[in-house]
Amino acid sequence: MNEQLRLLTKLQELDSVILAARMRIDAIPSQISSQEGPLKNAEAAYETAKQNHAALEKKKKDRERDIEDISEKIKKLKQRTSEVKTNKEYQAHLKEIEAAERDIKASEDELLSIMESLEESAKRLKAESGRINEERAKIEVVKGELGEEVARHEQELKGLKGERKKIVDKIESDLYTQYMNLMKANRGLAVVEARNEICQGCNIHIPPQLFVELKKNDEIMHCPQCRRILYYVPPESDARQQAAKSQETAAARESD
Ligand SMILES: [Zn+2]
Repeated sequence: MNEQLRLLTKLQELDSVILAARMRIDAIPSQISSQEGPLKNAEAAYETAKQNHAALEKKKKDRERDIEDISEKIKKLKQRTSEVKTNKEYQAHLKEIEAAERDIKASEDELLSIMESLEESAKRLKAESGRINEERAKIEVVKGELGEEVARHEQELKGLKGERKKIVDKIESDLYTQYMNLMKANRGLAVVEARNEICQGCNIHIPPQLFVELKKNDEIMHCPQCRRILYYVPPESDARQQAAKSQETAAARESD
Protein backbone atom coordinates (compact mmCIF):
# COMPACT_ATOMS: atom_id res chain seq x y z
CA MET A 1 0.00 0.00 0.00
CA ASN A 2 1.09 3.54 -0.77
CA GLU A 3 2.81 4.79 2.39
CA GLN A 4 0.84 8.05 2.49
CA LEU A 5 -2.40 6.13 2.06
CA ARG A 6 -1.40 3.74 4.82
CA LEU A 7 -0.67 6.70 7.13
CA LEU A 8 -4.01 8.27 6.24
CA THR A 9 -5.91 5.09 7.11
CA LYS A 10 -4.05 4.94 10.43
CA LEU A 11 -4.86 8.61 11.08
CA GLN A 12 -8.54 7.99 10.33
CA GLU A 13 -8.58 5.03 12.68
CA LEU A 14 -7.06 7.15 15.43
CA ASP A 15 -9.32 10.15 14.78
CA SER A 16 -12.41 7.93 14.96
CA VAL A 17 -11.31 6.81 18.43
CA ILE A 18 -10.56 10.42 19.42
CA LEU A 19 -13.95 11.63 18.18
CA ALA A 20 -15.77 8.87 20.03
CA ALA A 21 -13.97 9.78 23.26
CA ARG A 22 -14.79 13.49 22.77
CA MET A 23 -18.44 12.71 22.08
CA ARG A 24 -18.58 10.67 25.25
CA ILE A 25 -17.08 13.56 27.26
CA ASP A 26 -19.49 16.07 25.67
CA ALA A 27 -22.49 13.87 26.48
CA ILE A 28 -21.70 13.67 30.17
CA PRO A 29 -23.17 17.00 31.41
CA SER A 30 -26.54 16.17 29.87
CA GLN A 31 -26.28 12.67 31.29
CA ILE A 32 -25.87 14.20 34.76
CA SER A 33 -28.75 16.65 34.35
CA SER A 34 -31.00 13.90 33.00
CA GLN A 35 -30.58 12.14 36.34
CA GLU A 36 -31.29 15.22 38.44
CA GLY A 37 -35.08 14.87 38.08
CA PRO A 38 -35.71 13.16 41.44
CA LEU A 39 -33.55 15.77 43.22
CA LYS A 40 -35.46 18.62 41.54
CA ASN A 41 -38.75 16.96 42.60
CA ALA A 42 -37.53 16.57 46.18
CA GLU A 43 -36.47 20.23 46.28
CA ALA A 44 -39.86 21.36 44.94
CA ALA A 45 -41.71 19.18 47.48
CA TYR A 46 -39.55 20.61 50.28
CA GLU A 47 -40.30 24.16 49.13
CA THR A 48 -44.06 23.46 49.18
CA ALA A 49 -43.81 21.87 52.63
CA LYS A 50 -41.84 24.88 53.86
CA GLN A 51 -44.47 27.33 52.61
CA ASN A 52 -47.20 25.24 54.15
CA HIS A 53 -45.33 25.20 57.47
CA ALA A 54 -44.85 28.98 57.43
CA ALA A 55 -48.57 29.49 56.76
CA LEU A 56 -49.40 27.29 59.74
CA GLU A 57 -46.97 29.23 61.95
CA LYS A 58 -48.71 32.43 60.96
CA LYS A 59 -52.14 30.94 61.73
CA LYS A 60 -50.84 29.84 65.13
CA LYS A 61 -49.62 33.37 65.95
CA ASP A 62 -52.94 34.86 64.81
CA ARG A 63 -54.93 32.50 67.08
CA GLU A 64 -52.62 33.17 70.00
CA ARG A 65 -53.15 36.89 69.57
CA ASP A 66 -56.93 36.36 69.33
CA ILE A 67 -56.86 34.41 72.59
CA GLU A 68 -54.87 37.17 74.28
CA ASP A 69 -57.23 39.86 73.02
CA ILE A 70 -60.33 37.97 74.13
CA SER A 71 -58.81 37.19 77.53
CA GLU A 72 -58.12 40.86 77.94
CA LYS A 73 -61.70 41.64 76.95
CA ILE A 74 -63.08 39.11 79.47
CA LYS A 75 -60.87 40.54 82.21
CA LYS A 76 -62.16 44.05 81.54
CA LEU A 77 -65.78 42.85 81.38
CA LYS A 78 -65.40 41.13 84.75
CA GLN A 79 -63.86 44.25 86.26
CA ARG A 80 -66.92 46.20 85.18
CA THR A 81 -69.38 43.76 86.79
CA SER A 82 -69.61 45.86 89.95
CA GLU A 83 -70.62 48.89 87.89
CA VAL A 84 -73.71 47.13 86.53
CA LYS A 85 -76.85 48.63 88.03
CA THR A 86 -79.99 46.85 86.88
CA ASN A 87 -80.80 43.21 86.60
CA LYS A 88 -81.41 43.61 82.85
CA GLU A 89 -78.02 45.18 82.40
CA TYR A 90 -76.52 42.40 84.48
CA GLN A 91 -78.08 39.70 82.27
CA ALA A 92 -76.73 41.40 79.14
CA HIS A 93 -73.34 41.73 80.79
CA LEU A 94 -73.24 38.03 81.65
CA LYS A 95 -74.25 37.15 78.10
CA GLU A 96 -71.38 39.22 76.74
CA ILE A 97 -68.91 37.44 79.00
CA GLU A 98 -70.31 34.06 77.99
CA ALA A 99 -70.03 34.94 74.32
CA ALA A 100 -66.40 36.00 74.78
CA GLU A 101 -65.67 32.77 76.63
CA ARG A 102 -67.20 30.79 73.77
CA ASP A 103 -64.99 32.73 71.36
CA ILE A 104 -61.92 31.96 73.40
CA LYS A 105 -62.84 28.29 73.54
CA ALA A 106 -63.27 28.20 69.75
CA SER A 107 -59.89 29.89 69.25
CA GLU A 108 -58.24 27.48 71.67
CA ASP A 109 -59.71 24.48 69.84
CA GLU A 110 -58.49 25.90 66.59
CA LEU A 111 -55.05 26.54 68.07
CA LEU A 112 -54.88 22.95 69.20
CA SER A 113 -55.69 21.64 65.75
CA ILE A 114 -53.14 24.04 64.23
CA MET A 115 -50.49 22.74 66.61
CA GLU A 116 -51.30 19.18 65.54
CA SER A 117 -50.98 20.19 61.89
CA LEU A 118 -47.69 21.91 62.69
CA GLU A 119 -46.37 18.71 64.21
CA GLU A 120 -47.33 16.79 61.06
CA SER A 121 -45.88 19.51 58.90
CA ALA A 122 -42.58 19.46 60.82
CA LYS A 123 -42.37 15.70 60.24
CA ARG A 124 -43.04 16.19 56.53
CA LEU A 125 -40.37 18.91 56.34
CA LYS A 126 -37.85 16.60 57.95
CA ALA A 127 -38.76 13.77 55.59
CA GLU A 128 -38.52 16.01 52.52
CA SER A 129 -35.20 17.37 53.66
CA GLY A 130 -33.98 13.81 54.16
CA ARG A 131 -35.14 12.94 50.67
CA ILE A 132 -33.16 15.89 49.27
CA ASN A 133 -30.04 14.64 51.03
CA GLU A 134 -30.60 11.14 49.67
CA GLU A 135 -31.09 12.36 46.13
CA ARG A 136 -28.08 14.67 46.43
CA ALA A 137 -25.94 11.78 47.59
CA LYS A 138 -27.12 9.70 44.63
CA ILE A 139 -26.26 12.49 42.19
CA GLU A 140 -22.86 12.90 43.84
CA VAL A 141 -22.19 9.22 43.20
CA VAL A 142 -23.25 9.62 39.56
CA LYS A 143 -21.12 12.75 39.23
CA GLY A 144 -18.17 10.98 40.79
CA GLU A 145 -18.44 8.02 38.45
CA LEU A 146 -18.91 10.17 35.37
CA GLY A 147 -16.10 12.47 36.51
CA GLU A 148 -13.81 9.46 36.65
CA GLU A 149 -14.97 8.47 33.21
CA VAL A 150 -14.15 11.95 31.88
CA ALA A 151 -10.71 11.77 33.48
CA ARG A 152 -10.16 8.37 31.89
CA HIS A 153 -11.14 9.67 28.46
CA GLU A 154 -8.98 12.79 28.90
CA GLN A 155 -6.02 10.58 29.76
CA GLU A 156 -6.76 8.38 26.77
CA LEU A 157 -7.02 11.47 24.54
CA LYS A 158 -3.62 12.68 25.72
CA GLY A 159 -2.01 9.43 24.59
CA LEU A 160 -3.94 9.43 21.33
CA LYS A 161 -2.91 12.99 20.54
CA GLY A 162 0.74 12.06 20.95
CA GLU A 163 0.28 9.12 18.62
CA ARG A 164 -1.62 11.31 16.19
CA LYS A 165 1.16 13.89 16.03
CA LYS A 166 3.69 11.20 15.11
CA ILE A 167 1.53 10.13 12.17
CA VAL A 168 0.66 13.66 11.05
CA ASP A 169 4.37 14.56 10.98
CA LYS A 170 4.88 11.92 8.30
CA ILE A 171 1.93 12.98 6.11
CA GLU A 172 2.51 15.47 3.30
CA SER A 173 1.03 18.80 4.31
CA ASP A 174 -1.24 19.16 1.22
CA LEU A 175 -2.63 15.73 1.86
CA TYR A 176 -3.19 16.51 5.51
CA THR A 177 -5.08 19.70 4.61
CA GLN A 178 -7.20 17.66 2.22
CA TYR A 179 -7.83 15.09 4.94
CA MET A 180 -8.87 17.74 7.48
CA ASN A 181 -11.25 19.38 5.00
CA LEU A 182 -12.83 16.02 4.27
CA MET A 183 -13.13 15.36 8.02
CA LYS A 184 -15.02 18.62 8.49
CA ALA A 185 -17.26 18.07 5.46
CA ASN A 186 -18.03 14.42 6.26
CA ARG A 187 -18.77 14.28 9.97
CA GLY A 188 -15.38 12.88 10.95
CA LEU A 189 -15.03 10.28 8.23
CA ALA A 190 -12.46 11.15 5.55
CA VAL A 191 -10.83 7.81 4.68
CA VAL A 192 -13.05 4.80 4.00
CA GLU A 193 -12.77 1.32 2.64
CA ALA A 194 -14.04 0.49 -0.83
CA ARG A 195 -15.57 -2.91 -0.20
CA ASN A 196 -17.26 -4.99 -2.91
CA GLU A 197 -17.07 -1.97 -5.24
CA ILE A 198 -19.04 0.13 -2.75
CA CYS A 199 -17.81 3.27 -0.97
CA GLN A 200 -18.30 2.55 2.75
CA GLY A 201 -18.73 6.28 3.36
CA CYS A 202 -21.68 7.08 1.07
CA ASN A 203 -22.64 3.61 -0.26
CA ILE A 204 -22.31 4.60 -3.90
CA HIS A 205 -21.33 1.93 -6.36
CA ILE A 206 -17.79 2.63 -7.58
CA PRO A 207 -17.36 2.44 -11.38
CA PRO A 208 -15.48 -0.78 -12.32
CA GLN A 209 -12.67 1.11 -14.06
CA LEU A 210 -12.01 3.18 -10.95
CA PHE A 211 -12.26 0.12 -8.73
CA VAL A 212 -9.57 -1.65 -10.75
CA GLU A 213 -7.25 1.29 -10.09
CA LEU A 214 -8.28 1.48 -6.48
CA LYS A 215 -7.42 -2.14 -5.80
CA LYS A 216 -3.77 -1.32 -6.42
CA ASN A 217 -3.74 0.95 -3.35
CA ASP A 218 -0.78 2.83 -4.79
CA GLU A 219 -2.41 6.23 -5.26
CA ILE A 220 -4.62 8.57 -3.27
CA MET A 221 -8.03 8.18 -4.89
CA HIS A 222 -11.39 9.74 -4.10
CA CYS A 223 -14.96 8.55 -4.11
CA PRO A 224 -16.67 10.16 -7.13
CA GLN A 225 -19.66 11.11 -4.97
CA CYS A 226 -18.54 11.99 -1.42
CA ARG A 227 -14.88 12.77 -2.31
CA ARG A 228 -13.63 10.69 0.61
CA ILE A 229 -10.24 9.01 0.23
CA LEU A 230 -10.69 5.34 -0.59
CA TYR A 231 -8.56 2.30 0.17
CA TYR A 232 -8.92 -1.32 -0.61
CA VAL A 233 -8.45 -4.34 1.64
CA PRO A 234 -7.45 -7.33 -0.50
CA PRO A 235 -9.61 -10.43 0.02
CA GLU A 236 -6.48 -12.55 0.59
CA SER A 237 -5.86 -10.78 3.86
CA ASP A 238 -9.54 -11.23 4.73
CA ALA A 239 -9.20 -14.92 4.02
CA ARG A 240 -6.02 -15.07 6.02
CA GLN A 241 -7.63 -13.23 8.91
CA GLN A 242 -10.60 -15.52 8.81
CA ALA A 243 -8.38 -18.58 8.70
CA ALA A 244 -6.45 -17.26 11.70
CA LYS A 245 -9.70 -16.58 13.49
CA SER A 246 -11.13 -20.05 12.87
CA GLN A 247 -7.83 -21.55 14.00
CA GLU A 248 -8.07 -19.51 17.18
CA THR A 249 -11.65 -20.67 17.73
CA ALA A 250 -10.62 -24.28 17.14
CA ALA A 251 -7.72 -23.90 19.56
CA ALA A 252 -10.01 -22.32 22.15
CA ARG A 253 -12.49 -25.17 21.73
CA GLU A 254 -9.77 -27.77 22.18
CA SER A 255 -8.43 -26.10 25.31
CA ASP A 256 -11.92 -26.03 26.89
ZN1 LIG B 1 -18.41 7.91 -1.15
